[in-house]
Order: sequence, then structure tokens, then C-alpha cells
Amino acid sequence: MQILDGLAVSAHIKEQIKSEVATIKSKGGKTPHLAAILVGNNPASEAYVGSKVRTCSELGFGSTLLRFDSDMSEADLLAEVQKLNEDKDIDGILVQLPLPKHISENAVINAIHPDKDVDGFHPISQGKMLLGQDTFLPATPYGILLMLEYYGIDISGKHCVVIGRSNIVGSPMSVLLARNAHPGNATVTLTHSRTKDLKAMTLQADVIVAAIGKPKFLTSDMVKDGAIIIDVGINRIDDATRKSGSRLVGDVDFDAVAPKCSYITPVPKGVGPMTICGLMKNTLKASQIAR
Ligand code: NAD
Repeated sequence: MQILDGLAVSAHIKEQIKSEVATIKSKGGKTPHLAAILVGNNPASEAYVGSKVRTCSELGFGSTLLRFDSDMSEADLLAEVQKLNEDKDIDGILVQLPLPKHISENAVINAIHPDKDVDGFHPISQGKMLLGQDTFLPATPYGILLMLEYYGIDISGKHCVVIGRSNIVGSPMSVLLARNAHPGNATVTLTHSRTKDLKAMTLQADVIVAAIGKPKFLTSDMVKDGAIIIDVGINRIDDATRKSGSRLVGDVDFDAVAPKCSYITPVPKGVGPMTICGLMKNTLKASQIAR
């Protein structure tokens, strides 16, 4: 069993991006600039945005963090997005989800200019992805592809079972694993909360991507020997042995499942850092678009 070390892979990819940015800057080119919007003060969102902004500075990118109160109106948020769309210095726009209930996430995502959609959530990006056209790929599935590529894991012809069908992880992941590309060419089963006999599906899987949001959901009796396991879940559970009283676990029962696998991602330090890599690569790509 080999651990897919998201921290090490992301460090490697970040070094590549950093040197590319240094070269661009030395030739008088545009410094990539990411704008992040955070509405409210959800602690997990604070942590995610903080780490994205820190990575920007690590890589030599510019960044702008706009923070707003949770009672901000949808119209005001749409106006802020529009300002960023029109700002020639801003290459990528990220609106941290989830948004407060009174704001439509779809309306906000749709308002981001597709050339600045570095999260890859806009319908134009998702449509192009579906058609196999060049576009911004959603950061988490993109990060997972980068990880498979780094380890030289060939999924062509393999049976991949994706658990979870969200617009940001499960659904795009299923499309990307199946498309005629590398990594890709897998046979994909997309499963979700209405799937009957999930265990029968996962037991057939060469690769399982778990994106459910339920701690330790995937147990060892659901996994065949030698499977490749990608754990996207980030769940905080109580842990009295920790100073903080809690710790992060994935959607996979890691300790029980790991001995059966050929490869597995840990949580933390697995898919999380790769998501940030996907975002940074998209931001670099966006900065190369002539405005
Ligand atoms: P979501 O809540 O939008 O979707 C969850 C999906 O799981 C749904 O499609 C639902 O049908 C499916 N599901 C729920 N119960 C199920 C069951 N019993 N059997 C089969 N399917 C079931 O979640 P999301 O936004 O896709 O996120 C999933 C998890 O991944 C969360 O823990 C989230 O925090 C994490 N996440 C991590 C990263 C990262 O960078 N590592 C990025 C995004 C999300």
C-alpha cells in the first residue's frame, strides 16, 4: 500500500508554478492575481480562504481578500463580483462557498466572468469540460487528476466508482475520469444517496473516489483488495485526546481500509493541498488570457 502524499505532490507542483511565475515576471509579464470573497465567518471557510491567500503569496501571485458580513444582500455581492470582472488587474475570482442561505450560489457563480472562473464552477466552464474543450477544471477534481498523473497511476480501462454527485466534486470528477484523455478513459459509475446497494458497486471498483461528507463512511468490507482510494471528505469529529477536542477525518475509514489498498490518500494532507494546486494552476492560466 502506498500513501498518495498530497502535501509532497503539491509542494512539487507549487515549485514549478513559482518558477514559471518568476520567469513571467522577469520578462515583464503579468503577475497572476487572485481575488477571494468571503461572506460571513464560517471557521472552515476562513481556514480555506486563508490558506489560498497564503499560497498566492508563497508562489509570487498577487491576492485580494474581500470580506463581507453574513447579512450582505445578494445584489451587493453581485455588484462586488461585477467590479472584479471589470478590474483588469484581477485574473481569477473565487467566492468561498457555502454562502448564507439568502444568497443564491448559482446566481453568484453565474455572475463571475468565465475568463476569471478559476474555481471552474461556471456553466460555461462545466459545459466546456463536458465537451472536452480547454477550460478551467473544477479545482478539486483537477487536483485529483494532477495527483494521479504525478504518481503515474493509469486509470485507462479501470472501473471507477465515484460516491457523491455534487456540482463541485462528484459530478465533474465522473466526467473527467471517463473522458478520452490522460488521465481518463475509465469506466465510471456515479453513485449517490439514492443508489441501491452501494456496497455491490464499490466492491467492483478498481478506483473509488469518496466525496460524501460523512466521516469514515467507506468501510473495509466495501473495498476490494488492491483498490485505489481517493478520499475527498473533510469532516471534523470529536477527539478528547487532542488539545482542540477535535480532529479531521475523511469519508474513508482510513485505518481499516488502507491495508487492503494499492494506493490511498490520507486526510488531512491528501486531496486538500491538491485542490489548492488546481486553483493556483487555473489562476496562472487565467493570467495568460489577454484582457
Ligand atoms: P455535498 O454535500 O454537496 O454532496 C454530497 C454527496 O454525497 C451528494 O451528492 C449525496 O448524494 C452523496 N451522498 C450522501 N449520502 C450518501 C450515501 N449514504 N450514499 C451515497 N452517496 C451519498 O458535498 P461536496 O461539496 O461534494 O463535499 C463532499 C465532501 O468533500 C465534504 O466532506 C467536503 O467538506 C469535502 N470537500 C473537500 C474538498 C477538498 O479539497 N479536499 C473540496 C470540496 C469538498
